[in-house]
Amino acid sequence: MESVAQILPILENLQTSMSMIEERVTSFVPRKHITDTVKQRHISVVVTLGCKCPCCGTTQIVDELGNVLDAEFDHFYSRERRDYVDTWLICRECHLNMKERSEYLPEFQVYQRRAKNIDNGQMTFGF
Ligand SMILES: [Zn+2]
Repeated sequence: MESVAQILPILENLQTSMSMIEERVTSFVPRKHITDTVKQRHISVVVTLGCKCPCCGTTQIVDELGNVLDAEFDHFYSRERRDYVDTWLICRECHLNMKERSEYLPEFQVYQRRAKNIDNGQMTFGF
């Protein structure tokens, strides 16, 4: 019987292979542009939450007037899912460094929950 130490590298190789396959499949799916309405909702939410990137929480990504600074709209789940609940506005650095998306799922889910609360009137807008 093989030990965990022997199986671990095999599992890591499998994970790498799965990521490569996923990347390849994704490359065949056409990218759907995020609509201006969805973008505007994200901007409003970010302003309400203090103008910072919801991913790192440190970089200012919009000004108090709602102008987008050094930030990008991200299709969190996949390039063909462009709804409000599937996207967010994050700083360019976070976007560039985002390799394994599952690692950022907690931040994305917190952002979506806060956005939903704002939409339900449980928080007031900052401007
Ligand atoms: Zn960031």
